[in-house]
Amino acid sequence: MIAAVGRLWRLCAPERARLVRGYVLGGLASLLRLVPALTAAVLVARLDDGLTGADAALAAGICGLSLVLRYTLARVANGDLWVLAYHISGRIRHEILDHTRRASPTTWTGRGSGEALTVLAFDGGKIAGFLSWEMPTLVNGIVLPVATVIAIAWFEPALAVPAVATVVIALPVLRFGLRRVEQVYDDRRRLQGDASERMLEYVRGIDVIRAHELAGARQARFREALNGIRDADVASVERLTPAYSAFQALVDAGYAAVLAGVGLLVAGGSSGSGDLIAGLILTTTLFRPQLDMGARALHLPELAASLSRIEAWLATPTIDEPDEPARPPSGSGVDVGLHRVVAGYEPGVPVLHGFDLAAPARSVTAIVGPSGAGKSTVLRAIAGLIPIESGSITVDGVPIDAMLRADSAALVTAVMQEVGVLQGSIGEAIAAGDPSVDGNAVERAARAARIHDRIVALPDGYQTELGEDGSGLSGGERQRIAIARAIAKPAPIVLLDEATSALDPTSERLLREALANLTTERTVIVVAHRLETIRHADRIVFVDDGRIVESGSHEELLATGGAYAGFWATRQRAAGWTLQQEPSTSTAG
Ligand code: ADP
Repeated sequence: MIAAVGRLWRLCAPERARLVRGYVLGGLASLLRLVPALTAAVLVARLDDGLTGADAALAAGICGLSLVLRYTLARVANGDLWVLAYHISGRIRHEILDHTRRASPTTWTGRGSGEALTVLAFDGGKIAGFLSWEMPTLVNGIVLPVATVIAIAWFEPALAVPAVATVVIALPVLRFGLRRVEQVYDDRRRLQGDASERMLEYVRGIDVIRAHELAGARQARFREALNGIRDADVASVERLTPAYSAFQALVDAGYAAVLAGVGLLVAGGSSGSGDLIAGLILTTTLFRPQLDMGARALHLPELAASLSRIEAWLATPTIDEPDEPARPPSGSGVDVGLHRVVAGYEPGVPVLHGFDLAAPARSVTAIVGPSGAGKSTVLRAIAGLIPIESGSITVDGVPIDAMLRADSAALVTAVMQEVGVLQGSIGEAIAAGDPSVDGNAVERAARAARIHDRIVALPDGYQTELGEDGSGLSGGERQRIAIARAIAKPAPIVLLDEATSALDPTSERLLREALANLTTERTVIVVAHRLETIRHADRIVFVDDGRIVESGSHEELLATGGAYAGFWATRQRAAGWTLQQEPSTSTAG
C-alpha cells in the first residue's frame, strides 16, 4: 500500500522538489496545531509552582502567534500543492496522450477507447486529488501524533506507552483492511475501462440504437458493466468495513487506554499530578489526525489501481521513428507495392498472410471479396494503422517504415468507413486540422466533392458543428464531406473504403462526381462495393482469408469463371433485385 505512494513519487520526479517543499510547509503547519494543547499543558504543569497573569498572557500570545503562523504556512503550502497537483496531473495526461499517439496500433487491441478514456480522464484526475488532498492528511497523520507522543513523554513517559500502543495495534489493522480491498480494486479498474467502452459505444451509436430498437440489447451490455462496478464497490465496502471499524474503535479506545494509564499511575502512588494532567491534555491532539489519516488512506487502493493503469498504458510499445530516415518519393504519381505482407491486430494472429500487391502510379485497384476477408485491413496496413509483422510496403520502392511517420502519412489520403466520427465544424473537418489547408482550399475541396452548395445552404455554413448530428446532414452528404477532406489533402495515394449503403439517384450522381475528383491523377486502392467502381477499376484483386485469390481486369476475371465471376453474378442478381424493389436505385449499378 505504501508502495503506491512510492510509485506516485517516481511518477512525480520532475516536480519532486516543489512537492517536498509543499509537504514540509504543510507538516510544519500541522506541528503548530500542537501549540495550544502544549501551552495549556505547560500552564497546567506549572500550576503547582503558582501561575502569574503574565504567564497566562504569554501563553495566549504564543497561541495567537502560532495560529497566525499556522494559517500562513497552510495557506502557502495548500495553494502551492493544489496548483502543483493540477500541473502534475496535466503533465501526466499529456504524456499519456503523447504516448497514445506514438503507440503501436496493437495498443488498442483488446483495450479500446474506453480504456484510453479511463486512463486520461479518471486516472489522471485521481493523481491530482491524491497529491493535494490525501497526501497532506497522511503527512499530518504521521507528523502530529509523533510530535504529540514526544511531548506526552516529556511530561509523563508512562502515559506515552498506551498512546504508542494504540498506534502500533491500530495501523496494521487498517493496513490489513486495505490489502483486502486491493484485489477488488484491480477488478474494478478493469470494469471501469469496460464500462467506459460500453458508454462510448452506446453514446456514439445512440441514433442507430434508437432507430433499430436496439436499446434493450445495447443497454443490457452497458448495464452489465455498470452492475459490475456496483458489485465491486459493494464488495470493497464489505471487505473493508470490519477492519476499518476496528481501526476506528482502536484509535478511539486510545483515550480509554491513556486514562487507564493515569489510573494505574495514581494507584501506584504517582504524585506528579500537574504532569499527568498535562499529558492528558496533550492526548486531545493525538487521535483525531490518525482518524483523518485512516479515512484518507481508504483512497490508497484506488490510487494503486490508477497508477497500475497509467504505468501499463505508458509501458505499451511505441513505434519509433527510423534512425536514418529515407527520403519520401517526391513525384506526383507513385507506385504502391505490398511484398509478402503479414499483418494483423494482435501479435502472432495475422489477418493478412503474405499479401502481395502492385498498384502502379495513377491506377485504380479494386479490392473485392467476402466480408471479413481482410479488405479493410489491407488499407489499414498501407495507411500505417496496423503494424507489419513481416514483409514490406513500399511507395516508389521506398519502404514506408523507413520514412519519418509524418512523411509516410503525407503520402496517403483516405476515406475510411468511419464517416460518423467526423468532429468539429464542417470547415475544420475538411481541413482536418492541417494549417496549410486554408479557407479557400476547404471551399475548393468542398466544391470538388459536390457538397459546397449544401454546406452554404446550412444556417451556419462551414461553421456548422458535425459532432452531435445536429447538422441534419444525410449519410450521403457526410460521405461527401469525408471525400472533401480527402481531396483537400494533396497526397498521391488515395485509400478508399466504400460505404455499402444504397443512395438515391441524385446522391449517387454527386457521389460519383466527388469520387471522380478525388481519384483523378492519384494511385487509388479501393475496397469496392459499388459495381461501377469495380467494373471500371484498372485491376481487381479478389481477396479471401487475407490472401489474393485472383487478380486481373473485370473482363479477364469474368472469363476465368472463378471466385470473382461467382461474386459478380451474385452482386448483379442483388442489384437486379434492388432494381425491381426500388426503381430509384437503378443508377447505382
Ligand atoms: P473486410 O474489410 O474484408 O470485411 P476486415 O479487414 O475488416 O475485413 O477484417 C478482417 C479480419 O480482421 C476479420 O476477421 C476481423 O474480425 C479482423 N479485424 C478487423 N478489425 C479488427 C480490429 N480492430 N481488431 C481485431 N480484429 C479485427
